[in-house]
Amino acid sequence: MIKMAGNKRFCDGTVIALLLIAVWTVSGCVDSYAPKVISPLATSTEIIGTSVQNRPIECFRFGNGPHVILFIASIHGNESFGTPLAWELINYIQKDRRLLNGRTILVIPVANPDGCAAGTRENINEVDLNRNFPAANRINITEYGTHPLSEPEAVALKEVIQAYHPARVVSIHAPLSCIDYDGPGQTIAENMARVCDLPVTKLGAHPGSLGAYVGESLGIPVLTLELRATDRELSADELWAKYGRSLVAAIVYPEILY
Ligand SMILES: [Zn+2]
Repeated sequence: MIKMAGNKRFCDGTVIALLLIAVWTVSGCVDSYAPKVISPLATSTEIIGTSVQNRPIECFRFGNGPHVILFIASIHGNESFGTPLAWELINYIQKDRRLLNGRTILVIPVANPDGCAAGTRENINEVDLNRNFPAANRINITEYGTHPLSEPEAVALKEVIQAYHPARVVSIHAPLSCIDYDGPGQTIAENMARVCDLPVTKLGAHPGSLGAYVGESLGIPVLTLELRATDRELSADELWAKYGRSLVAAIVYPEILY
């Protein structure tokens, strides 16, 4: 069971720093993109669950406001170049505290650590985590998991959503080169698209996906940032230059970017 912000399960900055070193050493996942700065006073972190292979799944929390925005990267392990973008977001949030006025921002940089380490879309059980949520349109087949939430990584994400009731969720994927949305997220997607070179494209909610569950079943806007395949070659700085404003737009909507 996930505990809310302020619970003693959240750690102080020293523990966070040690934890970061441990996590990135164990995971072996794009560790060259580790965050440049973690301010001890700016963040709390929680291990929201563990993968099949016992890797921790971390959620970084910033702020305490009532408007909660959740960012998720690398639910598909072979799309892990979304993770450095998530780390860049963490760096940026700590520099620009205006983002936290009235808000809580949650960032999960690596939602599928086993798949990320193996370079596979699925988790180590060969299940697509983005088909494992208890959405109305879910299909019980082996590659989607034999039942909803059969995979611990999907359970961890579902519990975060249950605990925090985010107003919107942004999930970073690749390589479909667009901004997709599920649930009531069209205007947020349009605002994100205004400040990057990706179009808004309605792809449709796949069975048992995060978009189908959170967007369509729970009615919470889900914005899917689908990076380009060529973005894999970019540095973290270059990724942020291309897409940072789009992520910030997702945070501040309906406010205008400053
Ligand atoms: Zn994906």
